[in-house]
Amino acid sequence: MIQGPRVAVIGLDCAAAPLVFGDLASEMPNLHKLMSGGLHGELDSITPPITVPAWACSMSGTTPGQLGIYGFRNRKDHSYDGLSIATSESVTEPAVWDLLGRRGGRSVLLGVPPGYPPKPVEGWRVSCFLTPPSAKSYTHPVELAAEIEEELGGEPYLFDIPNFREKGMEFVMQQLFAMTKRRFQVARRLIVDKPWDFFMMVEMGLDRLQHVFWQCWDPGHPKYEPGNPFESAFPEYFRYLDSEIGSLLELIPDDAVTIVMSDHGARRMEGGVCINDWLMREGYLRMSEPLSGVTPIAKAPIDWSRTVAWGDGGYYGRLFLNVRGREPQGVIEPGRYEEVRDELIAKLEAGTGPDGQPLGTRVFKPQEVYPDVRGVAPDLIVYFGDLRWRSVGTVGNPDIFTHENDTGPDGANHDRAGIFVMSGLPGQPTGRVEGLRLIDVGPTIMDLFGIETPEGAVGRSFR
Ligand SMILES: [Zn+2]
Repeated sequence: MIQGPRVAVIGLDCAAAPLVFGDLASEMPNLHKLMSGGLHGELDSITPPITVPAWACSMSGTTPGQLGIYGFRNRKDHSYDGLSIATSESVTEPAVWDLLGRRGGRSVLLGVPPGYPPKPVEGWRVSCFLTPPSAKSYTHPVELAAEIEEELGGEPYLFDIPNFREKGMEFVMQQLFAMTKRRFQVARRLIVDKPWDFFMMVEMGLDRLQHVFWQCWDPGHPKYEPGNPFESAFPEYFRYLDSEIGSLLELIPDDAVTIVMSDHGARRMEGGVCINDWLMREGYLRMSEPLSGVTPIAKAPIDWSRTVAWGDGGYYGRLFLNVRGREPQGVIEPGRYEEVRDELIAKLEAGTGPDGQPLGTRVFKPQEVYPDVRGVAPDLIVYFGDLRWRSVGTVGNPDIFTHENDTGPDGANHDRAGIFVMSGLPGQPTGRVEGLRLIDVGPTIMDLFGIETPEGAVGRSFR
């Protein structure tokens, strides 16, 4: 038997507390109306604050270490074969819908990452933004796709904006509104048609908006130009998104608990740090032949017999050590592993920016961040400038610092402070609440359903 109220979660990928509760609050009247009847607060994301695995950590109450998923891409083993992409199959810890399903409770999951391939669920599932164009099926059950296509009347359902960093701003702007419109249209259909106990959707629009247009809106961004043609992109999209949220809220039954949340926040990005060029300069990374230009690290002619460490790009820096007996041509004696890690931490954290001032870089050992470290974790997790700078994965760059990154222009990086709003629970606290954590959301929802937090989860119900 299912206890407790039905629960509906509207996930806004990358919704940042300083914007939603602050600078752009006036653009979100529907969300603020919901807040006025419930509780809200900053939601502290995971380390690192990345979409995959953040949503999975949230809904299973676990850390990335417990899932063995440290970002979109992970090492499969200790070979030099590069990184592989996480999928829905990578998550092995039970999430809210798994535990609910075992008790006969039914879920609607719309775009919750990682949601491809669309693993069976007790209920209905539409896969996520990682769905490849070649996907044969994107729903569970398979027939659900026909309902979506009928609902959209021939317009394609948009999982994401493919190659959004390269397509030009006009195109992204148009696709952004179309993607959000169609996702919420499908959400309204499913929330009305399906007999769900748990409903959850994730909209990617804010994430894409912020990565592409942050510099158009924020006068503090190094690339901001007053009067640029996209100066109003942020307020326009926030207001539009809020209107879609409002139309969905109207369809959620009065006796349901409603949650609006994000997986992480965002902040302006100052630029990129070329982690591998830095490692070369410091003598940790060596090539067997001169580089002929800017080269992805996976294609670089690395001389493994003389390489101590290499790095990868992304919103945060991943640093890997070449350890004897662990990597095929490891050079660091296992007994010196901690010494080398500590030396790299000290050098990275002492690093200065292009202006000669301390960059404020923070470096973490996975073993100090997670209670359990499974799979193949990076040896070090690097927040350049405390996430004001991203990590660039190529090597052979003319400088350690760049304002162009390896995956196209980007105005924002991820940050810790996401959002959480909950309304509809009788007797719940109201107003602003401190200390909310992403990994506690799943256990809180489980608690609402009368389900005990599974063994191994570290999140706790904050009810
Ligand atoms: Zn995200």
